Amino acid sequence: MFQKDPYLLTPGPLTTSLTVKQAMLRDWGSWDNDFNDMTADVCRRLLEVAHGEKSHVCVPIQGSGTFAVEAVLGTLIDPDSLTLVLINGAYGQRISQILERLDRPCLEIDKGDYEPPRGTEVAAFLNEHPEVKQVVVVHCETSSGILNPIAEIAAVCEQAGARLIIDSMSAFGALPVNVSELPCAALISSANKCFEGVPGFGFAIIERSLLEGSQGRCHSLSLDLHDQWRYMEKSGQWRYTPPTHVVAAFQQALKEHEAEGGVSGRLARYARNRNRLVAGMRELGFETLLADEWLSPIITTFLSPNASTFNFRHFYDEIKRQGFVIYPGKLTVTDSFRVGCIGQLFDEQMDDVISAVAKACENMGLALPVPPPALTPENLKSA
Ligand SMILES: *Cc1c(COP(=O)(O)O)cnc(C)c1O
Repeated sequence: MFQKDPYLLTPGPLTTSLTVKQAMLRDWGSWDNDFNDMTADVCRRLLEVAHGEKSHVCVPIQGSGTFAVEAVLGTLIDPDSLTLVLINGAYGQRISQILERLDRPCLEIDKGDYEPPRGTEVAAFLNEHPEVKQVVVVHCETSSGILNPIAEIAAVCEQAGARLIIDSMSAFGALPVNVSELPCAALISSANKCFEGVPGFGFAIIERSLLEGSQGRCHSLSLDLHDQWRYMEKSGQWRYTPPTHVVAAFQQALKEHEAEGGVSGRLARYARNRNRLVAGMRELGFETLLADEWLSPIITTFLSPNASTFNFRHFYDEIKRQGFVIYPGKLTVTDSFRVGCIGQLFDEQMDDVISAVAKACENMGLALPVPPPALTPENLKSA
């Protein structure tokens, strides 16, 4: 039954293992010790992956990843303090949008669709705006697939005395992060990305002292991470109904993550997936939006070929018929589409998806190699 589902080449929800799905075939009481132990184990494992055992705490929160982002911003950011948001895509924009809703003052460095924010420009900006108390950056900006240089950004934040908050939703678990070394005040991620769990909750790894001082600040009762943390510390339970089955699946996913060799094992498989995908697609004539240096092992944006016979909806359906779900593009300047490398995907699936793309082109009457995109990555920069 499960094998017939198409593979999801999307950045979460993604294709999970059969054993992760099977972990959900039980019911748990939310007050029961068996379940509380599971929550504690999950948090302990996550802190370990982030190297934050000594300095940070892990707080899970019900909902999708965005709920966790909103919870972190609302809980940690003082209403009067100024925040700098580094934007190069939809998820950076969403952070700004959340702050606006929360009435928290913020400034932006907006690099457009796919240029990375660099340490030097962030340093110059912070120098000009010494009142900035925190900087928020997206680790892998999933809308283009770019891997932002968080280490150089963390270094300049530290130098300027600004706290760093990282939306590492689509990177944590596959890209190495050491929260105490970076340093990083809070790192946010969710169950259904690189740890390969099912959707239902997000979590934040937060500097303990910072969270301790955050009582009563959050605008929202249900998103108050200080309350959630204190309650969990005291009772072992989530405040309000936990996503029990999702937590059980996530614990199993974390065990499988560890068995694969932890972050380095997972990164190796995703990078191999990406390399196979990019090489195969380039052979078919497709061009990547980003130069190799900025390609994440998470998701890759390809520019649509400039041909009247190429239509994304049609292309999508042709590929889905062959057992793979891809993702539409998110660029404002030109047509594109995205293919993910994360989830239970291995060499075989990456090779098969290349064959599926070739077949789809053939069925659409598009000769191989496909023609180049309307805008090449080089002239996109000036577009
Ligand atoms: C997936 C993702 C989110 C959260 O999205 P949800 O749809 O709310 O789960 C936030 N930031 C990034 C970078 C993401 O990839």
